[in-house]
Amino acid sequence: MKRQSFIVVGIVLVVAAFIVAAFGWSSWAQAQRRAKGGAGVSNTERRVADTGRSDQPDTRRDVFIAAGRAPQASELSGGTWINSEPLTLEALRGRVVLVDFWTFGCYNCRNTLPTLKRLNASYGNRGLTIVGVHSPESDYEKDLDNVRRGVRELGIRYPVITDNDYQTWRAYGVQAWPTIVILDKQGRIRFTHIGEGMYEQQEQIIQKLLAEDSGAARENSDTNQGRGLAMTDRVIKTDEEWQRELTPEQYRVMRQKGTERAFTGEHNDNHEHGTYYCAACHNALFSSDAKFESGTGWPSFYQPVVAGNVREETDTAHGMKRTEVLCNRCGAHLGHVFDDGPRPTGLRYCMNSVALEFENKQ
Ligand SMILES: [Zn+2]
Repeated sequence: MKRQSFIVVGIVLVVAAFIVAAFGWSSWAQAQRRAKGGAGVSNTERRVADTGRSDQPDTRRDVFIAAGRAPQASELSGGTWINSEPLTLEALRGRVVLVDFWTFGCYNCRNTLPTLKRLNASYGNRGLTIVGVHSPESDYEKDLDNVRRGVRELGIRYPVITDNDYQTWRAYGVQAWPTIVILDKQGRIRFTHIGEGMYEQQEQIIQKLLAEDSGAARENSDTNQGRGLAMTDRVIKTDEEWQRELTPEQYRVMRQKGTERAFTGEHNDNHEHGTYYCAACHNALFSSDAKFESGTGWPSFYQPVVAGNVREETDTAHGMKRTEVLCNRCGAHLGHVFDDGPRPTGLRYCMNSVALEFENKQ
């Protein structure tokens, strides 16, 4: 053999060795992750986007992105929801949202759970919603019963949506489990982190984003200015949390759209001056000034204290077409509104006492 051929063969061997090493390493790393975790990141390929131009959205990882350059997050695509009614980012506007891309068999994902649970407990009622996007790695992890059992056994109480077709995974450009994406109150991506760790930074960013003004909150306080009863951000909790926090009767009426028996509620005959609040989230709903004797056995009002504090929906249950009244802050069922009320509005807001909390005017 000539000397040149030796060099060519040598190069081929070196390249082949590299390829074997790379593939071998990749499967070894995956096997390690399955077995016992280790590196804190699975199947990761770190790529820091070039953000040279200032009009480009900033998609860097592990940095707090300025609001003006933060990209809008893609909507969560339609999987099956666990621990929650179907949610959309649109409906979560006004809340800080932490999206966790995970799968229940992933050791690194499991290691992040204590932090996620703690954040959920500490900030859940201060405006943070955690959504777990369950993007499976194996067929076993695609089975809905297995996912449900995984969620239950891991003690996850926040909403989880399945992502078996990887639609959400792809929309967010995710490459590894776990990936944490934190959105601000306007649904923009302000922080992305891959793998375990950076827990303190995540908490600080959540605190910063909770302190930021949201477009929606500003709008509400403008509408309600001068009344001192501005509606604050939405309250979204899991069914389990509501069940824990409300009395059984409140839960039946407010979360399952039940009705208390007529003439049994404590506010039906209340003639004191004051304000009626939502018993679940303390949103101001009605003033005693608008209360009247309807004779129905339920506390009745001709108008809410601020129109935007209640929400109305068509209710066709029980073969009737009625207008349901809900708390616009926490979505609790309050009662119905009928158009046979007194002046000046001609409306009768027929409410369940158990859904209301009364506070005397001082
Ligand atoms: Zn409420």
